[in-house]
Amino acid sequence: MCLRRQTIRKMNNKRFKTVGKVSSKILAVIMTFAIVLSLSVEPSIDSNAVGWKGNTSGWWYEESDGSYPSESWKQIDGSWYYFDSAGYMVTGWRKISGVYYYFESSGAMAADKWIGDYYVDASGAWTETAGSTGWVMRGGKWYFYNEDGSAATGWKKSGRDWYYLDADGSAHTGWLSDGGDWYYMDSDGKMSIDWIWDGSAWYLMSSEGKWISDNKIIYLTFDDGPGPYTQRLLNILDKNGVKATFFVTAAYPEYSYLIGTEYNAGHSIGVHTYTHNYQKIYSSEAAYWSDFERMESVIQAQTGSRTNMFRFPGGSSNLVSSFNSGVMTRLTTQATQKGYTYYDWNVLSGDAGDTTDSSKILENLKNGVKTHNESVILCHDIKDYTIDAVEDFIPWALANGYTFQPLSENSITAHHTVQN
Ligand code: ZN
Repeated sequence: MCLRRQTIRKMNNKRFKTVGKVSSKILAVIMTFAIVLSLSVEPSIDSNAVGWKGNTSGWWYEESDGSYPSESWKQIDGSWYYFDSAGYMVTGWRKISGVYYYFESSGAMAADKWIGDYYVDASGAWTETAGSTGWVMRGGKWYFYNEDGSAATGWKKSGRDWYYLDADGSAHTGWLSDGGDWYYMDSDGKMSIDWIWDGSAWYLMSSEGKWISDNKIIYLTFDDGPGPYTQRLLNILDKNGVKATFFVTAAYPEYSYLIGTEYNAGHSIGVHTYTHNYQKIYSSEAAYWSDFERMESVIQAQTGSRTNMFRFPGGSSNLVSSFNSGVMTRLTTQATQKGYTYYDWNVLSGDAGDTTDSSKILENLKNGVKTHNESVILCHDIKDYTIDAVEDFIPWALANGYTFQPLSENSITAHHTVQN
């Protein structure tokens, strides 16, 4: 006689005690009925064979030596089962060695599926989120857990990005209608603030994530900074909720930290040049990319990532490089081969030597954007009179139905014709 039988007898005795008022005769009938019921379902029972055995209290698994697993795992016919300290097969939720598992009514461990609101991974584990916070991926969807262990819902900002968590806590993907505006959440749940392809057409989403149905788009771009006036410009942009693009240099190392400020505020960052020394950088392709890489390092140090956007000093149509015949043709080709996108402009502010008068710059900006559906404006954030003009230009443009966007890999490049 194995231990198993004694255990059963003990358990049955307990049951008799708790239902003491019920006569043993009635109970015997109930028990018999229950045994018949349990015998009618899989797994089949054969008191002489090795394998599954059952009674009214549950199932156990008898080995050939008469022993049975208890407080342990056993794999049977490809499924995992767990047996409790009395040797009974476990069903439902069970915490084992600090990890929650779910066992189907058949006793087989569930894996890689939803059990109500909980997802058990491929190993069968549901990781307790109480006490741990942040993003969790389950069943191919992202969830965000608050400090109290509850799942966040609604709009959620994380780092530079916005997410929308549906009522079940999962991050929304695809089109989202909210407050009369359309938003598009990418496959990771991030709100798109760029051109998007939804499988059938391209759409432009504003820097606030809203679908822009018209074409009056302005890309403000600032070269040669960051410098002494950049923080003031950032304040103006921030006050108006406008995102811009900065093609940066290392001309003022004491302001390099502003590259990180620009990036964190949601502006686009591109390489301009480290030295801005035309004679040096356009002397050879190697010299150009060497200077370029130095600036990439500065950007990486300030933002934590490299950029694949840049603007040539003087633009791709510059003639200042003509001392080295064909260098711009070679560099523009190499840029594409290296996976970089360069941007020129189609609207001049006039702050590159034409004027130092902010009212003239403002006039240039207003006239320039009227002639383009998408304007890429060349400005320099190292000129205080440019900042003055931009401060007046932005409210005028917003009042006249224009939308400001930062440049991206999908936006207009406004390429010039290479002339060298
Ligand atoms: Zn420049």
